[in-house]
Amino acid sequence: MSRPWRVAVVGGGIAGLAAAVRLRDRAPAGTEITVYEQSGALGGKLHTGELAGQPVEFGAESFLMRDPAGGESAAVTLIRRLGLAGKIVHPTVGQAALAVDGGLRPVPGGTLVGVPGDLARVATVAKPAADADRDGGRPLLGPDEDVAVGTLVRARLGDQVVDRLVDPMLGGVYAGRADDLSLVTTMPALARAARVEHTLTGAVRAAQAAAPRAPGAPVFGTLAGGLSTLVEAAATASGATIRLHAAVRELTPTADGWRLTVGPTRDPELVEADAVVLALPARPAARLLAPVTPEVATTIGGLDYASVALVTLALPNPELPALSGFLVPATEGLLIKASTFFTTKWGHLARPDGMALVRASVGRYGDETSLHLADPDLVATVHRELSGVLGVALPAPLASHVQRWGGALPQYAPGHGDRVAAARTALRAAHPTLVLAGAGLDGVGIPVCVRSGETAAEEIIEALGGSGS
Ligand SMILES: Cc1cc2nc3c(=O)[nH]c(=O)nc-3n(C[C@H](O)[C@H](O)[C@H](O)COP(=O)(O)OP(=O)(O)OC[C@H]3O[C@@H](n4cnc5c(N)ncnc54)[C@H](O)[C@@H]3O)c2cc1C
Repeated sequence: MSRPWRVAVVGGGIAGLAAAVRLRDRAPAGTEITVYEQSGALGGKLHTGELAGQPVEFGAESFLMRDPAGGESAAVTLIRRLGLAGKIVHPTVGQAALAVDGGLRPVPGGTLVGVPGDLARVATVAKPAADADRDGGRPLLGPDEDVAVGTLVRARLGDQVVDRLVDPMLGGVYAGRADDLSLVTTMPALARAARVEHTLTGAVRAAQAAAPRAPGAPVFGTLAGGLSTLVEAAATASGATIRLHAAVRELTPTADGWRLTVGPTRDPELVEADAVVLALPARPAARLLAPVTPEVATTIGGLDYASVALVTLALPNPELPALSGFLVPATEGLLIKASTFFTTKWGHLARPDGMALVRASVGRYGDETSLHLADPDLVATVHRELSGVLGVALPAPLASHVQRWGGALPQYAPGHGDRVAAARTALRAAHPTLVLAGAGLDGVGIPVCVRSGETAAEEIIEALGGSGS
């Protein structure tokens, strides 16, 4: 191509922005990158707001420091690339609790998303099924097999381990249920180990040994100043033209690339691109793909999503335990499924006046009636339930905020990874310059989405004829 490449990145979440940065770093100099974002702000599920004069995350809160396969996570590598490594902070209080039987018990150590590697260590919270995790003489999972997390763990360790440990942990991340979620997509390291190991506790230990953590090394990090600083820095480093309020509504293949229909129906803008990264949730991605490749659209669009609301309260000098927060098993019958004590967990947010920021998330997949409550009722319910779990009468909030995330958390059914791989193979064969990225494909979490966007960028570079640097 004699003129500069023109690459369109559709979706200004972290996956799209990571793709844009990688394109800037690896595509030939002069490549024109445009990010199209339908809302008025970049970041997608990353959104730092403000409550009671304090910056606070209204979406994702932190990122994993390490990759499940070992080494630093893709989020940390990107942050380093953007010159923000000095802003990484870690929880000062890392211990979380489980709200079980009307009280708070520390989340036991040595588990992988709640699945124990040592049964004795979880005894305070759940009673594993006696002697069920026997060596049956073969690996737990076949080479291409996937199962729901709950199916595997119930069979090996019994219901209590699922209901009181694994389900609340998965609920905290996916707002979903262990009995529905794919092991391969939600716990890839455990799935890998389960293809070799004959017991589940053995698989947990093998997964942990495969990615050993230096003693005391922090698991999570966030950025002082908020995760929106990552969004802004990525947008700047990408040198991309950023188009806000620019929904892409149609994608049409042309003789040598793509035509995008952008903006409102009554006043659409048509733009040409040599290649496109679609970094969108599954449903909007499927809508754009439907006329181009209906089978791929059907596969991608079949993914279901959960909705959640995050309720943040600013409380004057409340009595809080020295915990980062707590998780609530669905069996406890509360609307709150998880709570984070921001100002306890993150030292950099602690306030000299003792004001505390406490966030609770409500909404579980398949049981989202709580989300129909109006904001003041949600705030009152969360305040009442928090007081109940903590066993104290919390003071009235000084301020509150409700952030609703409709259809935000993908519910990966078993076999998701294979379906995505097949869809990508079909798309690559028919349209190598159209590449998919984001949580709807590759899994939730900032590191996963960063890597997803970067991989998409590299595929685009290869499809357009290789790197310029
Ligand atoms: C409440 C909540 C809390 C979370 N907490 C954490 C956490 O603490 N740590 C962590 O690692 N992960 C967390 N996650 C998960 C993580 O935030 C997401 O997996 C990740 O941010 C998804 O990034 P993405 O770029 O794939 O998608 P998104 O962030 O969804 O970005 C997609 C973007 O595409 C835009 N868009 C949609 N349609 C169009 C269109 N037609 N044209 C143009 N633009 C369009 C959207 O407006 C959006 O900005 C959380 C998620 C949620 C919902």
